[in-house]
Amino acid sequence: MDQSRSSSKESPYIRVAGEREAGVKCARCNKEIEQGELTASCMQCGGIHHQTCWTEYQQCGSYQCSQGTMSKASTSALVISRDDLNHAEPLPVIPSYTDNALTISEKPKQIWNKLAIWAFVIALLGIPLFGIITGLFAMILACIALVSHPTHKKGFALAVAGLMIGFFEIIGWSAGLYFYMDTPRTNSIAFSEYAFDPTSLDNLPADLKRAMKSNVLIEVNNGLFGRGMGSGVILTSVNGKSLIVTNRHVIDSEYNDDSRDVVADDFDKSDPVTVQAIGQIPVQGQIEWIAPHGIDLALISAPLDKEVISDAFWNKKKAPLIGSKVFAIGNPHALGWTHSTGNLSQYRKQTKGAFTYQIIQTTTPLNPGNSGGGLYDENGFLIGINTMTGDKRVAEGLGFAISINTLFDLIPGTFQIPAQQGKIESDDANVSETNN
Ligand SMILES: [Zn+2]
Ligand SMILES: [Zn+2]
Repeated sequence: MDQSRSSSKESPYIRVAGEREAGVKCARCNKEIEQGELTASCMQCGGIHHQTCWTEYQQCGSYQCSQGTMSKASTSALVISRDDLNHAEPLPVIPSYTDNALTISEKPKQIWNKLAIWAFVIALLGIPLFGIITGLFAMILACIALVSHPTHKKGFALAVAGLMIGFFEIIGWSAGLYFYMDTPRTNSIAFSEYAFDPTSLDNLPADLKRAMKSNVLIEVNNGLFGRGMGSGVILTSVNGKSLIVTNRHVIDSEYNDDSRDVVADDFDKSDPVTVQAIGQIPVQGQIEWIAPHGIDLALISAPLDKEVISDAFWNKKKAPLIGSKVFAIGNPHALGWTHSTGNLSQYRKQTKGAFTYQIIQTTTPLNPGNSGGGLYDENGFLIGINTMTGDKRVAEGLGFAISINTLFDLIPGTFQIPAQQGKIESDDANVSETNN
């Protein structure tokens, strides 16, 4: 700074601040001068200073006498002197602003979580494609993406979206498939519209009429897989409650050949079952028993009208000969109370775990819906529970029933099922004593 040109460099007028000076702001430091302090007044402009302020800078601090004004009086440009800088105070700081600014500036550029992107893309692809598979894939990817999602990566919302879309894809496609697959079932429903006329039983022989009246139609709700349907045979009716034997696979959609490992006592018997007796409306049934060893047998009970039904006849000690005529009563494709006939082809044995039991092979046509229904000898005595057929694409006339002897071997005594129920009027040549 060219101080030589400043006339304010002249010695100021020094005096002790009196009442007149007290409260006036120092031209240099801008603080109020207090009474009794030493002051320096500029001889040029009269500006009053603390004496110390003047001494420190050796010149007047007022606007008129400032170096800038004096040296460049003609320029309009604003000149900031070193003094100004020295006395400058920073602007008040807004902490949050600073923090934000810091965060933004320090945040590294975010990378996308690729798994999340894939989950989302696959989920989207699955809507027009096969959504059960892609939906599952999307959900798995999304789950992995979510579990392993690093906080510094983008894509959390994408992964969640992929998970949700995948989930609804599976639901949607399953429902769609169900309705598509259900189309053949429409045939069954159409069949079942061929209504059954109960008066058709009127002129039947007693043994056939009894077999008809001991057959029931069983339906269960298998959730997404629709309604399961099968047959059952009324064994006994006591106190308005009928005990009905059927196949386990009729009432248990999860039953398969490996179910031998399932402990029968652990089976959830609370699944709703409807039972329809001949010419009656369906009523609610109750699962009572599941056969052990994974044998495909079960007992249910239902309050059936004793006036219209019959309990089946059987004789554990008598078994028809191979080659003799047998017949089945059941509800193939929901065609209720259908009679079909054939021969007894062979007695066979099947082993599940440590348990061996008897199977009856028959040429009697059996179809879906016959399951759980009765196979009868010529006298209308129950000899087996129709359970399965050979694959009709590769086999013909191969039907199989679980022998009632197996049922009576397994059934707990608490159900009080006798070894024999009913009598044959005349001894039939085709019935022989067995060692069972
Ligand atoms: Zn001055
Ligand atoms: Zn001062």
